[in-house]
Amino acid sequence: MSMRRQRLTRPLLAIMALLGVMTSAWAGAKTAAELRRMVEDIEAMAADVAGETGIAAVSPRVLDVIATVPRHEFVPSEQKTSAYRNRPLAIGHGQTISQPFVVALMTELLAVKEGHRVLEIGTGSGYQAAVLAGLARDVYTIEIVRPLAETAAAAFERLGYTNVHTRIGDGYRGWPEHGPYDGIMVTAAPDHVPPALIEQLKPGGRLVIPVGEIWQDLMVLTKNADGTTTTTTVVPVRFVPLTRDEKEQD
Ligand code: SAH
Repeated sequence: MSMRRQRLTRPLLAIMALLGVMTSAWAGAKTAAELRRMVEDIEAMAADVAGETGIAAVSPRVLDVIATVPRHEFVPSEQKTSAYRNRPLAIGHGQTISQPFVVALMTELLAVKEGHRVLEIGTGSGYQAAVLAGLARDVYTIEIVRPLAETAAAAFERLGYTNVHTRIGDGYRGWPEHGPYDGIMVTAAPDHVPPALIEQLKPGGRLVIPVGEIWQDLMVLTKNADGTTTTTTVVPVRFVPLTRDEKEQD
């Protein structure tokens, strides 16, 4: 390279680097503002439907974690501009990432504490698992659609969610090797509660699950010390169906 070209290239590179830093700082500030708006929308919706859900408000601990998870990192590129709107989004393969309010509500209902080990059925985009990862010690998550499982696993790796453990397969039978769990969340709807999931709950543990056909009831099932269960129905919800792996069906 000639001296003259070098003299021109250096300042040009410096300007480009500066522009790069400014663009990412601007994008960061924009994301932070969008995240704050999304958390406000969740709070407003929680207050609106408190009469139906019986949950007066989403706890600060859950909202604080939601405020740190970059939802745009978990959605396909064509959905990134809508990532912080309080609505469900398509993630490909006919699947959807839940509305942020529903993520907040289900997380609240699971009552996750530090040190908990939780299982999620239906990794999808990985967003819900990332929220759980900020509250629990370990999150185990199963996804039946291979490309979705792989994309989510890559996102956990890229973003440093080292306490999320992924598996490809049919979550109907849970993941017994790492159980029993303090909490289990199902984000696809079966028409009945899978018995294996109750088995894999610790006494005192909670299972949050939508049960039904097209419209489902969001249910919270608590396992009592004597192994019996207590179930409460929270609100009607709409999730994609829990599909079964033909080979694994009873
Ligand atoms: N929790 C997800 C939303 C999931 S949508 C998120 O935060 O993005 C429901 C997901 O459940 C879909 O990705 C679907 O492929 C998956 N699913 C359906 N049946 C399943 C099964 N039997 N086992 C595991 N995952 C299943």
